Amino acid sequence: MENQPNNRQDFLSQLRNICGENLITDKPRLKVYETDGLTAKKQLPWLVALPSTIEEVQEIVKLCDSCGVPVVARGAGTGLSGGAVPHAEGLLLSLAKFNKILSVDTENLLARVEPGVTNLSISDRVKSLGLYYAPDPSSQIACSIGGNVAENSGGVHCLKYGLTVHNVRKLKVISPQGELYEVGSNALDSAGYDLLALLHGSEGMLGIVVEVTVKLLPIPPATCVVMAGFGAVGDAAATVGDIIAAGILPAGLEMMDQLATRAAEAFVHAGYPTDADALLLCELDGITAEIESQVKIVEKILTQNKATSVVIAYEVDDRARLWAGRKAAFPAVGRIAPDYYCMDGTIPRRQLPAVLSKITSLANEYSLAVANVFHAGDGNLHPLILYDANKPDELRRAEEFGAKILELCIEVGGTITGEHGVGIEKLDQMCIQFSEDELTLFHGVKAAFDVNLTFNPGKAVPTLHRCAEFGAMHVHRGEEKFPELDRF
Ligand SMILES: Cc1cc2nc3c(=O)[nH]c(=O)nc-3n(C[C@H](O)[C@H](O)[C@H](O)COP(=O)(O)OP(=O)(O)OC[C@H]3O[C@@H](n4cnc5c(N)ncnc54)[C@H](O)[C@@H]3O)c2cc1C
Repeated sequence: MENQPNNRQDFLSQLRNICGENLITDKPRLKVYETDGLTAKKQLPWLVALPSTIEEVQEIVKLCDSCGVPVVARGAGTGLSGGAVPHAEGLLLSLAKFNKILSVDTENLLARVEPGVTNLSISDRVKSLGLYYAPDPSSQIACSIGGNVAENSGGVHCLKYGLTVHNVRKLKVISPQGELYEVGSNALDSAGYDLLALLHGSEGMLGIVVEVTVKLLPIPPATCVVMAGFGAVGDAAATVGDIIAAGILPAGLEMMDQLATRAAEAFVHAGYPTDADALLLCELDGITAEIESQVKIVEKILTQNKATSVVIAYEVDDRARLWAGRKAAFPAVGRIAPDYYCMDGTIPRRQLPAVLSKITSLANEYSLAVANVFHAGDGNLHPLILYDANKPDELRRAEEFGAKILELCIEVGGTITGEHGVGIEKLDQMCIQFSEDELTLFHGVKAAFDVNLTFNPGKAVPTLHRCAEFGAMHVHRGEEKFPELDRF
């Protein structure tokens, strides 16, 4: 927006007409929204709106688009890459009031929900019908389904049941011009380009999601969790590949190193072997006979890979106790260090032993501890780098260490995000992962949806000039990235 006071006043009074009480302009209340889960990055928004109807959202974004005011959508603010960090001159659009489950269709196994509904509340709502919603981020108690779509979130059960994109059938979306449209369908396929997939992981850059139709699944008849301790991280990592190679697709296959295990045990008393160097949690589900035969195969693989302890849990409470430590691992690590920086990268499974060992060497190089707790079956790493923001230079070192981990993921054939998105955190690494042509294509997609660049500007896709600047500092194997672009 042109910053003349009159324009700002006009805009504000029009916005007040739309939002009434549901507009925040005073600093103390704006402060609540200055960060998301990536707490190292903070920015006060100019304004926060909390609409409660689709029509209000339409009017708000239409006004912002016509006045050149950036709009940043916000679900629960648990994102870990800074996607919901506000724009200083912009409006933060909270979807918190869209918190209703609109309908449950047991014949088609679908639920229609508003975007502010928390992930867990969908499964809670349909549990008595013998159903659940499969993607289960560890933040599921708090994160919103709209945020899950925007980040294409994953979770423990995504190894077998897929990410958010594989579990959503239809979206209602608002364009920057305020138009309401639908993508996807209640059926398995829909005509035209697959915009449903494109909107997943689009980080609030292409549209505001105002309704989500999710796929429900029957709760499996039987489930068991196998927990194994190992004397060496490499043995646990090798076991992950061996289980999959044996033809078993676990519902979840998670790994924690000793630092994470000890932190989780001290926090929730899950019964973890704290002397083990690494811990694997392997969930198997299906019919009882199938699980029993798979448990036998898994036990054999564990013995071959020198597991030092094995616990098999069939009862609901026992399984819940074993998972409680994994689900609470992030806050548990938060108790042992003033700050932590959670990384998110994905690598081919077979690279796990080598990459985990390299992360340990980097931890020594940067003199910072790291706790590893991650979706091992998906090869989706979450190194938590421990630091103290009050100590000079520790945040800078943590960020540099994190960037090195992401570059390592690219080097071994992986990617810089598994489920947390790019946000503002990984813009530089996007320059390494993608070529100029690919980034130009991404910018073209953005412009096709959002010609005035109103939605979440500056996130997820770096400008080519940013990459040129970064490339000048970052010559990889003697090759300068984007050599034809000006350096500033
Ligand atoms: C302790 C902890 C554990 C976590 N574990 C996991 C995990 O296991 N797996 C995982 O994938 N993630 C995990 N996360 C990250 C986070 O919870 C997810 O990314 C989640 O999907 C974010 O949802 P949110 O509602 O908080 O979104 P926000 O943080 O509010 O927003 C995230 C992004 O989505 C956009 N957005 C939000 N709502 C909408 C909407 N309605 N329309 C369009 N854009 C929108 C925002 O602009 C932003 O770019 C974890 C986070 C924490 C703090």
